[in-house]
Amino acid sequence: MAEEKSKTALLKEKIMMTEPKGVKALSKEEIKKADDFCVGYRKFLDNSPIEREAVRYTVEMAKKAGFVEYDNEAEYKAGDKVYYINRDKAVALAVIGKNGVKDGARLAIAHIDSPRIDLKPNPLYEANNLAFFKTHYYGGLKKYQWTTLPLSLHGSIVKLDGTRVDVNWGDDENESCLCITDLLPHLAQEQVKQPLAKAIKGEDLNVLIGSRPYDTEDKESDLVKLNVMSILNEKYGICEGDFLSAELCLIPTFKSRDIGFDRSMIGGYGHDDKVCAYPAIMAALDIENPEKTCITYLTDKEEIGSDGNTGMQSDFLRFFIYDLAKQDGIEGYRALSKSTCLSADVNAAFDPTYASAYEANNSSYINNGVVISKYTGHGGKYDTSEASAEFMGDIRRMLEKNDILWQVGELGKVDGGGGGTIAKYVANMNVDVVDLGVPVLSMHAPFEIVSKTDVYMAYRAFYAFFDFNS
Ligand code: MN
Ligand code: MN
Repeated sequence: MAEEKSKTALLKEKIMMTEPKGVKALSKEEIKKADDFCVGYRKFLDNSPIEREAVRYTVEMAKKAGFVEYDNEAEYKAGDKVYYINRDKAVALAVIGKNGVKDGARLAIAHIDSPRIDLKPNPLYEANNLAFFKTHYYGGLKKYQWTTLPLSLHGSIVKLDGTRVDVNWGDDENESCLCITDLLPHLAQEQVKQPLAKAIKGEDLNVLIGSRPYDTEDKESDLVKLNVMSILNEKYGICEGDFLSAELCLIPTFKSRDIGFDRSMIGGYGHDDKVCAYPAIMAALDIENPEKTCITYLTDKEEIGSDGNTGMQSDFLRFFIYDLAKQDGIEGYRALSKSTCLSADVNAAFDPTYASAYEANNSSYINNGVVISKYTGHGGKYDTSEASAEFMGDIRRMLEKNDILWQVGELGKVDGGGGGTIAKYVANMNVDVVDLGVPVLSMHAPFEIVSKTDVYMAYRAFYAFFDFNS
């Protein structure tokens, strides 16, 4: 006969939180589903390193799933699926609900820009018979991580005649790639004594792009630079002045990989925030006939403060919801005021090697599921939107009801640093919002790491949110 539980054990069971079971709580079938889901995620990640490419790939996926381009003159009915592109750098996917936006919309918003190295408007120069690009890094990065890495060039250039050419150089291993140099250790005695933040300076992130002169009998100068430009002219039809009207960035050339002997994790460039974007896209693609209109919005510029007309501070999404509200015969602000949002963004996964940067009771862990960040910001809760007790309660209930693995996480120790998300800009529209996403190791590094089961739990959470009757 089983021993009877003591009174204390019973009380503990009733009122105390138990150790999270994490991945141990999942059946073999559930883990297999997670692994299968991540095959699609890796494809998305490898095809969407920058925002324009992410928009293109997302629209391709959406079209295949029956979404059509949004037309603000058209009438939409329940079940209709539309995509709405903002300047090729952000995109909304909407599934019209039975009730439209009369009782508000359900929003899942992720960002599709990631930290990287951008070219300056006048990037090309030659020094000591080597050609380089000058750069300006984009987002919060540890500069030393970006030297001596194979880099590829992605982006778009608009020529003087108004035509646009899209650039993608360096991903194919049969093609050349580009690289930022670093000083050899033998001569780095002074450099290695510098604090990490100062050892490599912003103006040191110069990219090596050529070393052979243009073949000529003339005694002209800057022939290495000329040679590089002639190659680019041949391939893309561009002149040096065209860099002024371009968006070009350098990203790592490598593709995503499974990580660990057990293949339980994925390493890759740009998990922040494609690892939330993809599950949010899939939730929009899979949801059928929701009560409320469901919108997955993929925004740009989060890594540099969400400014600009493609960032979350722009009115693009607000105007879209106003349009939908007009069709339903209500004021746009009323639709927004009743809307709720999951701000789909990553949080820092606890790293035992750097344990002192975290507070163990309020950190997220690899394989413990999707992480809710009640607030982000920094020292004294500055620069954030804190989710209300009521909204936290709703989301908690939804996750529990649907058996979704979840955890709570704060971004590191109090006063240890911090970071922001788009949540506060969503909250400014009078929308209830909380951050929910995937824990990431080595966040903002050229090669970040996530757990496959956490990615799948993010999908299940966004789907449940779109499907949730409340
Ligand atoms: Mn992010
Ligand atoms: Mn980030």
